Amino acid sequence: MAALDLLWKDSHLADGSVQEQGGNLVRNYGGSYEFRRGKGHNSRQFEPDYNDVGWSQSLVGVVHTHPYTNRDNDGASFSSSDLASISAEEESQTLNILRSGDMTFVVARTKEFDKIVARYEADNNANGLYRAMYDCYENVFAATEGTYKEKIEVAVRRVCQEFHLEYYEGRGATLTRVTGTDVP
Ligand SMILES: [Zn+2]
Repeated sequence: MAALDLLWKDSHLADGSVQEQGGNLVRNYGGSYEFRRGKGHNSRQFEPDYNDVGWSQSLVGVVHTHPYTNRDNDGASFSSSDLASISAEEESQTLNILRSGDMTFVVARTKEFDKIVARYEADNNANGLYRAMYDCYENVFAATEGTYKEKIEVAVRRVCQEFHLEYYEGRGATLTRVTGTDVP
């Protein structure tokens, strides 16, 4: 996806510093897709604007990048807050897409995940799910040996497994599902 290549390139500033970039993947009324580049930044972090959709468009996914000044960390997947935030996203926004280095990562919502959200909401505990996902990630990250991005990868897979999200990753245009609802 050319938009991802551009976001990744723009994540590296001329002075050598880095800045997360991102935007929204939207579906047009006719069924085609379009990428809307976002402007929101809070220091290094990309702040999604879930309301940035055009007339007759609907939000399908939020896209962002993970650039690092230490290029050894390129290729690191989603953060704990990236995944936990899915608990507060609309059901109709099914995708979170991330680019780091030559890797693209996608997390997709499932009906099972929607049911977990509904359960927490029924208990009047919407924040409880955020906390549970965040803690699951951080506990696995802390307990895992390896490089920064290896630890992240293990944590992301565990959270997706536990909370029934589908997880895809790959280089270029080919993504492979690495964790999903029917993976034992
Ligand atoms: Zn992130």
